[in-house]
Amino acid sequence: MTASFANKITWLGHDGFRIDADKTIYFDPYQITEGPTADVILITHDHFDHCSPEDIQKIQGPETIIVTEKDSAKKLSGDIRVLKPGDILDLPNIRIEAVPAYNTDKDFHPRKNGWLGFIAEIQGVKLYHAGDTDFIPEMKALNADIALLPVSGTYVMTADQAVKAALAIRPKLAIPMHYGAIVGDVQDAVAFKKALEGQIEVRILEKA
Ligand code: ZN
Ligand code: ZN
Repeated sequence: MTASFANKITWLGHDGFRIDADKTIYFDPYQITEGPTADVILITHDHFDHCSPEDIQKIQGPETIIVTEKDSAKKLSGDIRVLKPGDILDLPNIRIEAVPAYNTDKDFHPRKNGWLGFIAEIQGVKLYHAGDTDFIPEMKALNADIALLPVSGTYVMTADQAVKAALAIRPKLAIPMHYGAIVGDVQDAVAFKKALEGQIEVRILEKA
């Protein structure tokens, strides 16, 4: 199930993903070209490379639901649902759990901001998008089949730290993100995959 579901995931670069399931779901679209209209757009926090109103406009329709936190909500318009860590939102064919995302050894993403990662349950598969985060203790309790994890360092976890996070979360599949745009490059993704060899399956996606 996880393997076939993974084929529905398209990497749009940086932290941007599109899921083509029963519903069309996007995470953090940034520097994207046009795409199918979104049923749901999930925005992790209000940094420009995650909450990009001009990119959201390209895929937002009259029925699109945007799920995000309070700061991003101020920059966006439409049907917006504001969550904080721990909240759960049930939408048709998708259950969304907002989970914490924050830095532990730098100040770009303070815990008190209440910025988000998401666990989206779609067609029985739990997909975790970590947002901008370090390896945080809450990850040990997460239940995810597929984990999208940042690997670039600087603002988020390094590849080494992301390996520790993956081993704590124990997903069936991990996909590295947050490289190739602002900070980090594919070498970070390769290092992440290599370190997890024989332990957790890692798929490095080509940018669509
Ligand atoms: Zn950020
Ligand atoms: Zn970021």
